[in-house]
Amino acid sequence: MSNKKGLSDQQTLVLIKPDGLKKSLTGNILTRLSETKLNIVGTRVVKVSRKLAEEHYKHLKGKPFYPELIKYLQGKIHKKEKILALVYQGKNAIKKVRQIAGATNPEEAGPTTIRGSYGRITTKGVYENVIHASSNEEEAKREIKLWFKPNEIIY
Ligand code: UDP
Ligand code: MG
Repeated sequence: MSNKKGLSDQQTLVLIKPDGLKKSLTGNILTRLSETKLNIVGTRVVKVSRKLAEEHYKHLKGKPFYPELIKYLQGKIHKKEKILALVYQGKNAIKKVRQIAGATNPEEAGPTTIRGSYGRITTKGVYENVIHASSNEEEAKREIKLWFKPNEIIY
C-alpha cells in the first residue's frame, strides 16, 4: 500500500468538539469514522483560543448564535476546554466523513449518523453536534492549515 498522497486523495478536517469529549464519545466517534477506511494523517489535542474559534467559524460571524458558538468550540459551555483535531485522507474523504457525521442540525441528522445519535439543540439555540467535518475542498484546505503545521501531517 502506498503511503503517498495519491492524486485523487482528499484530506478533510474533523474536530471532536468539547461535548464529544465531555460525553466520552471519542472511541465511538473514531469507530464510526473507521467505517470509511480512510487514513488518519494528523491528530492533535488543542486548547482553542477565542481567536482560533473565531477564525474557524468566521463564515458565521453576525449570526445570532455566533457568540455562543465560539464559547461552545472553546469548551466554555462544557467546562472541557479542549478539542481533538484529526485529518483524514483518502478517496472522497470529505463526502464520506460528512455522510457519517450527518446533517448540521442534530434533529434533522439521520438517526444512525454521529450527530443524529449524539447531538442536541440547546435552549440558547446552538446545535451541539459533537463533531466538525469540512464540507468542501476549499474549506478543508483552509481549515487543515489553520489547525495543523505542514510537518504534523504524515502520509
Ligand atoms: N450552528 C448552530 N446553529 C445553526 C447553524 C450552525 O448552532 O443554525 C453551529 C453548529 O454547531 C454547526 C456550526 O455552527 O456545526 C457550523 O455551522 P455550519 O453551517 O458550518 O455547519 P456544519 O458545516 O458544521 O455542518
Ligand atoms: Mg461548516
